[in-house]
Parts: sequence; C-alpha cells; structure tokens
Amino acid sequence: MYIKRKLSRTFYALGLMKTSDELAREQFLALSKQVSIMYSVIILNSFFLAFSVWSDVGAVNAFAFPVFITPVMGMRYWIWRKRAKVIESFHIDAVRKALRGNIIAAFLIAFLIGCWTVNMMWSMTPQYFAYVPLFTILSMITCAYCLASLPAATYAVVITGTTYIALAMYMTGDIMMMVMSGNIMIITGFVIYMVANQFGQFRKLVESRSQIVAQRAYATRLAHHDQLTDMPNRRAFLNALHAHKSEGNDGSVAVVMIDLNGFKPINDTYGHAAGDKLLINAGRCLTKVVGSAGIVARLGGDEFAVLIIKPTGSQWIHDCVRSMLYEMNKPIIIDGHEIRLGAAFGVCHVPQMPTEAIELMQHADIALYDAKNNKTSAISFFEGSMEERVSRRTRIEQALSDSLQMADISLHFQPIFALRDGAHTGFEALARWEHPDLGTISPTEFVSAAERCGLATKLTIHLFHQALKTACQWPQNVRLSFNLSGSGLGTSNLDKIIPDILKEMDFCPSRLSVEVTETALLSNPEIAQEMLGKLRDIGVRIVLDDFGAGYASIGYLREMQFDGIKLDGSLIKDITTDEKSRNLLIGVLHLCQSINAEVTAEMVENAEQLALLRSLPITFVQGYLMGIPVPSAETFEPDPDKAELRRQLMAI
Ligand code: C2E
Ligand code: CA
Ligand code: CA
Repeated sequence: MYIKRKLSRTFYALGLMKTSDELAREQFLALSKQVSIMYSVIILNSFFLAFSVWSDVGAVNAFAFPVFITPVMGMRYWIWRKRAKVIESFHIDAVRKALRGNIIAAFLIAFLIGCWTVNMMWSMTPQYFAYVPLFTILSMITCAYCLASLPAATYAVVITGTTYIALAMYMTGDIMMMVMSGNIMIITGFVIYMVANQFGQFRKLVESRSQIVAQRAYATRLAHHDQLTDMPNRRAFLNALHAHKSEGNDGSVAVVMIDLNGFKPINDTYGHAAGDKLLINAGRCLTKVVGSAGIVARLGGDEFAVLIIKPTGSQWIHDCVRSMLYEMNKPIIIDGHEIRLGAAFGVCHVPQMPTEAIELMQHADIALYDAKNNKTSAISFFEGSMEERVSRRTRIEQALSDSLQMADISLHFQPIFALRDGAHTGFEALARWEHPDLGTISPTEFVSAAERCGLATKLTIHLFHQALKTACQWPQNVRLSFNLSGSGLGTSNLDKIIPDILKEMDFCPSRLSVEVTETALLSNPEIAQEMLGKLRDIGVRIVLDDFGAGYASIGYLREMQFDGIKLDGSLIKDITTDEKSRNLLIGVLHLCQSINAEVTAEMVENAEQLALLRSLPITFVQGYLMGIPVPSAETFEPDPDKAELRRQLMAI
C-alpha cells in the first residue's frame, strides 16, 4: 500500500499520471506550438553534423538519416498544424490518441538519432570521438525542452537518446569519453528534474485557470437560473426575450404568464418543503409540455413564464396552453397529501414582435390578471379592452384597502322558500357596494379583489356582523344563508371567528347556513374540509353553492359532508324550453339524492320554471320570481302586496 502510494506520488510528480481532459487539451495546444522548433532543430542539426563529418564517416552514413528524417518530420509538422486549427472540435479521445502517438514518435526518432550517432561515432578518428555525440546530445536536450508539456515524451527522448549514446561513450574505454558519459547522465537527470518541475507548474496553471472558468460559469448559472427548480429565472427570460428581438426576429411570438392557484395556503399549511416540491413539479410539467418550442422560466414565487418562438399558428398556441393547464390540474401526492393546484394562464400572442419586447410580458401579465379573475376559464388571451378592466380592478383594490370605504359595503337579503308549502324559510345575504366614482361594484368583483389584497377575512367579518345584526331580528324559524369566499377557507381561522361572533350576537348556529363554492373547495380540499367540519360540529349547515357550474370533480361530494346543495342557475335557466337541460337537471338531482342533501334551486325567474321544479325532488327555491334581494329594513316589514303575490305564487 505504502509503495503503491509512493509510486503514484512519484508518477504524479513526473507527470506520468493520466491528466484531466482540460490539461490534455492544453498539452496538445502547447505541443503544437513547439513542434516546429523541435523538428527544425533536428533537421538543421542533423544536416550540419552530416556536412561536418561526411568526409570521415562516408556520405551514406552521414546523410542517410537526415535525408530520411526530413520528409517524415515535414509530414508530422503538417499534421500538427492541421490538428491545432481544429482542436476545439476534437473529441478528447482523439486528443489523447494524438498525445500517445507523439510519445511513440519521440521514442522512435530519439532511438534512430541515437543509432545514427553511435554508428558515426565509431567511424571517427579518436580525437574527434566526442564531436558527434556532443552535437546530437545538444539537439536532444533542445527537443526534451520542446516536449516539456508532455513529460512522457521528454523522458522517451532522453532515455532512448542520451542514455544510449552515453552508454556507447562509456564503452569506448577512453577515460575522457567515460567522464563525458557520466556528465551526460548527470545532465539527463537534471533535465528530467527540470521538466517535471516545469510540468508541475504548467499543470497548476491550467488547473487554476479551469477553476476560474468553472467558477465564472457557476456564477453565470446562478445569475440566470432559479436555484430551486434549476430553470431559467426572470433575468434569463428577459435576456431571451431581448435577444430574440435584437436578432431581428420579426415573426410571430407568444409569451404565456402562469400563476399557480392556491399555492400560498398549501405552502403555509404543509410547510415549505412541500411547497418546494410543488414548484419543482409545476416547472417540470410546463417544461415537458413546451419541449423545444420555447423557454420556460420561473419568475419568482409561484409565477412562471413561457416564451414561444415562432409558434406554428394560433391554434397551436391554444392547444399548447390547454395541455399546460391539463398538466397543472392533475392532482399530485406530496408527503401523503393529495394536492390539486391548477393555474391561471395569461397569453399574449402577436404576429409580429413589438418595438418594445417587454410589452409582450406586460400584456401577458394583464391577460393573466384577467384569467385569475375569470370564473369560467383559466386561460385568457390579451385583448385591448383588458387594460381598461385592469385599471378598474386596481381602483377597486385601492378603494377596498381604505377601511372607511369598506364600511360602505352593505348587505341585501334575498328570500328562500320551501317548495312544498311555500313557507318562507330564510334569507341569503348578498353584499352590495355603490361607489361614488366607480358606480355599482358587483360582489364578484370586490370579493375577488379582497382575496387578491388579502382583505377577504376582514370583509367577511364585516359582512357577517352586519348579517347577524339583521338576522337577529327575524323570527326564530327564519334562517340566514351566508356566502364564504374561497381564500377564507384556506388561510384564515374563520372556524374560530364565526363561532365567536355567533356567541357574541347570541345567534343559534343551527339557524346559519354557510354557502361555499366548488372552486373554493378544490383549491385546498383538506383544509376546507377540516374548517367546515368544525363549523358543522357546532350545528352550522354547510351548503355547496353553484353546483354544476362547470367543475366536474364530484369525488369530494362523498368525502365532504354537505347538508345542502344549491344548484347553479345555469341548470335551471332552460329547463322549460330545452329537454337536454331538463334531463341534465334530473341527472344532477339523482346525484344529490345519493348523498342525502337538501337541494335548493336558485335563479328561478318564471312561473313555468317553478311549476316544473315542483315535480322534482327539490326542497327550497330562490329567485327573482319569488323575491329579489332587498335591503335589511325590508326584511323586517315585508311589503304586504308582495307577500300576498308570493303566497299565491307558491300555492299554485
Ligand atoms: P351566489 O351566491 O350564487 O348568489 C346568487 C346570485 O344570483 C346573486 O348575485 C343574486 O342577486 C343573483 N340572483 C338571485 N336570484 C336571481 C334570479 O332569479 N335571476 C338572476 N339572473 N340572478 C339572480 P349577486 O348578488 O350579484 O352575487 C353574485 C355572487 O357574488 C354570489 O353568487 C356570491 O358568490 C358572491 N357574493 C355575493 N355576496 C357575497 C358575500 O357577502 N360574500 C361572499 N363571499 N360572496 C358573495
Ligand atoms: Ca350563494
Ligand atoms: Ca349560487
């Protein structure tokens, strides 16, 4: 073991160990610059020597070697020159092969020179004995230095060349020649030492240079890559966008901005490690779909972007974005939890690159904003009119942040009736906001604005207080239906706040129905289930709102306990005129019966609809036909004329 270690150290110091790829290339380059000197020295010196001794040794002895070696060396020189020009494209195996070839060539040439020298030496008169070997030894030492970047070749030269000649000199028996042979051996050792030393420095230089190159590459990678997902980051994305523009690409181009749904609550609940896995997975899914058609980057947080260069038509873009959405909607299991993320997509597809490349990102951002607020589609393509909508949304968000303005948001109440006997069973609280500058702001607009600004819980508490204040004055048999927004289900502690307010206002929990939508549940089913379960435990009724509005994931109907289901208005709208709609409604009602939930039909607008609903297993009805949403005061003293009309209607 010790000997092995010692040997390998010596081999390393002598430069005889296998070198790194980088070093091998550098050796090759250094050699290619030295070979011309080396071959010139050999050719010139051998001709000089031949000229000076041919009268003593004969023309054949003197000139055979230089004449033979000149074309061989010329050829090798030409090969080296050619190789050096294409070194960058050379495979490392080819580089190593060339180096090995050089060692063999050095060995053979040195051996031939040695033989030639020794042969001529014997033909010289004794007083000129030393002349020939001295001449060649000097040439060999020059060659040894020229080959210093490839130590094995140097050693091949000195060992086969100088040692062989020194031995022959020693064997002459002449004392002067013997001393000279010893001297040559000492110089040979010294040359080996110097070459090993020089090569050590050469190796260090190459190593430190490749370290600097690697560090620089790492720093560039860090600056342009997202560390978590190893995808290009915002800077790299912008660079790619600008590069595409400056390369003079004027053709069709598209930018897609992507924002994951409900990432924050998942990150908060399951921890950052789970959040990280989700992001990595999302990045992989997007990259898989886009493939070589574009660049996918993580811009930060849960935001991703895709640059699609030269898309093949707008249909292709539609299909590509739809495939991305499909991938993002797939449930994934992380640490034993089934998580369903989903995402919103904002697309800006233009037939020509705009003057300002950044405009593409801004427009895709606006489209994304639209997609996030669009209840029916997760994908939005940029249109000019969106800019106006965005500006309105921003103004609503600003107005909401002003708590004084939030106080202007009030409630209207829409009555709900039992379909069998027409009894008035409750009211649904619906928020209203009349803004002095922005006009009427619909609850869908300001509820989602509140969610975006993190004000959803504050708004819910404000409205819940108001609703209970009114509901406390109704007869005990009249219930309150209250809408809970999506983000409130995932992040806030409403499961504590609601019971506290109920207690504070002395309102019986069994008189409260909480309405939640499928979309709100889907983003974070486990947390929503836990929270709603707690409310249910104290007697609050949980009603699934807008059922059948488009999402078809009904698996959670079994997992989550609902006391009631409210059919989406779209299921009622055409039942009197369209048989398909009627059959669909009947099918949905079968499903509701199987989970034992009371069904409410909302948005009932005409008597025909009401009459048809009577023949179906529906418990409650609500709609403009029976009563529009009215201000709080009107719930205490119903208009006697309206009440009579309603009585007649429900009695049919
Ligand atoms: P929703 O919970 O499905 O409420 C029913 C919507 O249908 C209400 O619209 C109501 O005014 C309307 N409506 C009732 N009867 C009829 C009818 O016969 N025909 C038609 N065409 N419409 C009818 P509104 O008040 O604009 O509310 C829209 C949505 O905003 C609500 O849908 C609910 O999701 C949300 N929302 C309203 N108030 C609140 C609130 O206080 N908190 C939360 N989180 N969301 C609310
Ligand atoms: Ca509702
Ligand atoms: Ca509804």
